[in-house]
Amino acid sequence: MAFRIGSGIDFHRLVEGRDLWIGGVKVPHHKGALGHSDADVLLHAICDALLGALSLGDIGVHFPDTDPALKNIDSKILLQKTMDLIRAEGYHVVNIDSTLCLQEPKIKSYVPSMQDVISGIAGVPLNAVSVKATTTERMGFAGREEGLVAYATVLLQKD
Ligand code: MG
Repeated sequence: MAFRIGSGIDFHRLVEGRDLWIGGVKVPHHKGALGHSDADVLLHAICDALLGALSLGDIGVHFPDTDPALKNIDSKILLQKTMDLIRAEGYHVVNIDSTLCLQEPKIKSYVPSMQDVISGIAGVPLNAVSVKATTTERMGFAGREEGLVAYATVLLQKD
């Protein structure tokens, strides 16, 4: 098939005493995301979208949170390894679209850095990586700042 589409979603709790990594960028905030890795919700959603596009399972299959070697791992490495799998299947990324749901902090000023990181690893131009954000109008766990969510959609093309 010439084109494949994939979607991904990820959730992490927000807690005191952790760094907040989003899209490969450390965002200053009084809370950070809890997880086995650096808990980068956006990169995880993108990994799942990439894997989903080629029916390669999910991030938990490839990078289990029970693996001591992955403790606090930089999720940019997970995205790089995921891209290796995509390339091994003979596909490349056309574009990535994503949305973050979180109440705080405002991430707009960090989006260019996130696009830079993601486009570099995915091997696409900056304008092929979209990172959007919304609050939930203070509703639900994201609105109460208990956690955050990322959604990603990717389009792959056969080399
Ligand atoms: Mg995750």
